[in-house]
Amino acid sequence: VADRLSLAADLHRALERNELVLHYQPQVNTQTGRIIGAEALVRWQHPTRGLVPPGVFIPVAEETGLIQPIGAWVIETACAQAREWAKAGIPLPTISVNVSVRQFMRKDLIDTLVKILRHTQIDAQTLELEVTESLIMKNAEEFVSTLKKLKDVGIKIAIDDFGTGYSSLSYLKRMPVDRLKVDQSFVRDINKDPESATIVEAIINLGHSLKLGVIAEGVETAQQLAFLRHRGCEEFQGYHFSRPV
Ligand code: C2E
Ligand code: MG
Ligand code: MG
Repeated sequence: VADRLSLAADLHRALERNELVLHYQPQVNTQTGRIIGAEALVRWQHPTRGLVPPGVFIPVAEETGLIQPIGAWVIETACAQAREWAKAGIPLPTISVNVSVRQFMRKDLIDTLVKILRHTQIDAQTLELEVTESLIMKNAEEFVSTLKKLKDVGIKIAIDDFGTGYSSLSYLKRMPVDRLKVDQSFVRDINKDPESATIVEAIINLGHSLKLGVIAEGVETAQQLAFLRHRGCEEFQGYHFSRPV
């Protein structure tokens, strides 16, 4: 408890002290051989603890309400970076940003996003929000209406960690999402565990039947890649291609 409290106190100052940094992990399409986007992943360069991973401080940010300013900073910074890359002659088709429940359910989400897009001069189509499956299913009705507003603006949506939550397929059908992101826990085991292999195959088929993009995350080996490609998946993210950099 003491440790968490001290982390929370430090986190309050992290933004103003410029201690948050974004790393970017490329996403590739193996059919075209091109980088199709990058996912922004936040880290906290803590003065004494060193680099703190998001799994440690994002939950604290959610509990304390700091997820709001931190989340806005992440989106703004990622969009500004995408703009820099475009100016440097290396435009990225997509920049993906993770958004947590507390952020997603805010009434001012769309306003914040529109402001950021205008400010950073980024096309709405360039921005993709990654939301987890559990978030969606917990608040499905509300989620569908927010999704529709995001669609109107032109922002894309990916369902992160797909397969680990509790999906209602009837909601999935009604939701204007663009991509499913196959969770890395299944990808990790596809070559050793027949159940994981079957689940991954089913997710790929489900996504394609619903005319959604399917991207596999956590691809670390050539064998995993070969399996996924053989099953019709062509978009990937993982250490096999690049770590977050
Ligand atoms: P995620 O969105 O599912 O991100 C994928 C995680 O897997 C990242 O961990 C990434 O570094 C890691 N990863 C990528 N490729 C591989 C691989 O080949 N093998 C393995 N073992 N791992 C791989 P990271 O950066 O520690 O992020 C963890 C989670 O924290 C993310 O999971 C996401 O849910 C959350 N997160 C990260 N940045 C943000 C943010 O800006 N806002 C919010 N709300 N959550 C964030
Ligand atoms: Mg993600
Ligand atoms: Mg994920």
